[in-house]
Amino acid sequence: MVTQVLLLSDKMADALCLIATLEMHAGDDFDVDWERSLGAGLAWLHTGEADVILADLALPDSGGMDTFEALSQAGAPAPILILTENDSDAQAALAIQRGAEGNFSKAQFANSLLPHMLRNILQRRAAEQSLFIHNERAELTLNAISDAVIATDLAGRIDYMNAAAEVMTLYPREQALGQPIGKVLFLINGSTRMPERNPIDLVLLHDQAMHLTTGTVMLRRDGSELAIEDSAAPIHDQHGHIAGAVMVFHDITATLAMAVNMLHQAQHDYLTNLPNRLLLNDRIAQAIVVARRHATPLTLMFLDLDNFKHINDSLGHPVGDALLQSVARCLLGCVRSSDTVSRHGGDEFLILLPEQRDEASATLLAAKILRAIALPHQVAKHEIHVTASIGISTFPSDGDDAETLIKNADSAMYLAKEKGRNGYQFFKRAMNERAIERRAVETGLRQALEHQQFHLNYQPKVNLASGKISGSEALLRWNHPHWGMVMPDRFIPVAESAGLIVPIGRWVLHEACRQAVRWKQAGLDCGTIAVNISTLEFRHKDFVAGVRAVLAETGLAPACLELEITESVLMRDIDSSIATLLELKAMGVMLAIDDFGTGYSSLSYLKLFPIDILKIDRSFVRDIDARRDDGVIVSAVIAMGTSLHQRVVAEGVEEAAQLAFLKQRNCDEGQGYLFSRPVAPAHFATLLKTGINTPPVA
Ligand code: C2E
Ligand code: MG
Ligand code: MG
Repeated sequence: MVTQVLLLSDKMADALCLIATLEMHAGDDFDVDWERSLGAGLAWLHTGEADVILADLALPDSGGMDTFEALSQAGAPAPILILTENDSDAQAALAIQRGAEGNFSKAQFANSLLPHMLRNILQRRAAEQSLFIHNERAELTLNAISDAVIATDLAGRIDYMNAAAEVMTLYPREQALGQPIGKVLFLINGSTRMPERNPIDLVLLHDQAMHLTTGTVMLRRDGSELAIEDSAAPIHDQHGHIAGAVMVFHDITATLAMAVNMLHQAQHDYLTNLPNRLLLNDRIAQAIVVARRHATPLTLMFLDLDNFKHINDSLGHPVGDALLQSVARCLLGCVRSSDTVSRHGGDEFLILLPEQRDEASATLLAAKILRAIALPHQVAKHEIHVTASIGISTFPSDGDDAETLIKNADSAMYLAKEKGRNGYQFFKRAMNERAIERRAVETGLRQALEHQQFHLNYQPKVNLASGKISGSEALLRWNHPHWGMVMPDRFIPVAESAGLIVPIGRWVLHEACRQAVRWKQAGLDCGTIAVNISTLEFRHKDFVAGVRAVLAETGLAPACLELEITESVLMRDIDSSIATLLELKAMGVMLAIDDFGTGYSSLSYLKLFPIDILKIDRSFVRDIDARRDDGVIVSAVIAMGTSLHQRVVAEGVEEAAQLAFLKQRNCDEGQGYLFSRPVAPAHFATLLKTGINTPPVA
């Protein structure tokens, strides 16, 4: 490659000597252009490009620094070398200060090494230039990235820091440079709050790259904190010796916040923000470890709202959701901060009480929770009344892992439901067997309809004044292939909770109506036929239509059908109960309240129900005989029925004395073993023909 040299000198001998030395030199390819004045030199630079300028500062049209300034402006970036008489030239020294590359003295002009020297100068210059560009590029890049970069020398003193590092540490670069790294970058462990060794120290010590321990927090200059994540590595010189260290780190506060948020979401219920099943299992497991170590018990409560499904269905899901939130707040208000209230899904809540509580204090808490939940919940425009049932299990007696404790608290909760809801029950071993039995019953029930294992028995109702059969009650029997005859008390609750009661009830209604029609067709006056209706059936949206369809299908007159509904079913949602009863009434069917006296009917509501018959529960009838009371309740119910124009039927009449009492109080009808047990249809037909023999009343 040709190196273009601009030579400026009006000293012929010097110029010729230089040209000869440069151009004649074998192996070097210098093309020298010689100009004798500054004007001519500048003119040349105007069109040509010099790789290097050799200039005598004293020219005919210019001298000293003026020559140099003019050349360096016009000739940049070519390096300028000053030609001098000797080495100690003041003007040349000044020019070098202002950027000249160096100088050649007269003694060197003929030196055969001159081309070599010039070549070296140019090479060094090119290297410097590329290094500058390199540095410039690195500097720009490092300042543009969001990661902080800090480098130190071997002693751990900062010798570089980018813009992000300034922002993160709050140290301006000028102040940070030269400082020990530990002063500018003070690190602590986020959880223990103890100072952390700076990774740069370790890198310098071990000459090895490394990462910061997770959870490292940087204490900034103003005392604020930043969660950071980083790596540090040694810097080596060209010989591979460690020369310092560089550390790259970034702020992970936002990332951490997001991670924390995601973890929270994974472990909490979106609706109530309570811990979910996952987190609860974890907490139970932890609590068990602690309880085991200290040999203390821990308590788990399984809470399920009573009739939540109905609220949800009738008022809509948004109201249901708001109610669950209200219940969640209510539960949190009842427990200690060390307790965990979690939602298990649906309307089920679990409460973990890790601190030692004996049965008495768990009892108190359960009662407190039930009271709190029973208070009206203000949700949207509604004032909602809801109750709950609670099952309680204890570690270690009822299980030693989360799954067992939850399962057993759940069984206990079911028992609380069966015992009439709005109550609590402690787990007892027997419940497990019950649960197994329940499952077996449920499985059996699923096939019972299909395999025609059901039939109905009929128990007569007797008009007490005339002694004649006034009607009958259809009572369901299940003939199980292995268990034999199964009574309703054993399977109706299971059928209800499994939802199977709806198709079963429909079958009962249909079968009972068909039977009544058969008797009538056989010329038998069977009176009214009573069918028991459970909660789920009564609340079912197709119930009224179903009754209408059965009557149409069988051709039974509506007035011959009596539907028995218990008090507690009617009282649960009074408005919808009244609406359903009115629809049935409009159809012409008779309505009876079954087991009257066992619920909590308010008399003022009772008046609102279009009821034809009150059936006094047999527990009150039994008390007549036992003389535990003098039959006041029976008397009161009879009086009330009379004044409300309702017929009163006494259930469970077993003794002649009871019958006498009832007759004396003008009770309309009686039903019980005294007259007849529930019997098969053929037997009932015989009873209709022969009549019932009751002992003469004294
Ligand atoms: P319930 O409606 O109160 O029926 C009367 C129950 O009392 C019958 O029991 C009957 O056999 C019994 N009983 C009648 N007279 C006497 C007596 O003098 N002494 C005693 N100790 N008991 C007497 P059962 O048939 O076991 O039915 C029990 C309950 O099961 C019924 O009570 C009713 O609530 C329910 N149930 C029966 N069949 C059906 C049905 O088809 N559907 C629905 N949903 N429930 C039914
Ligand atoms: Mg009944
Ligand atoms: Mg009854």
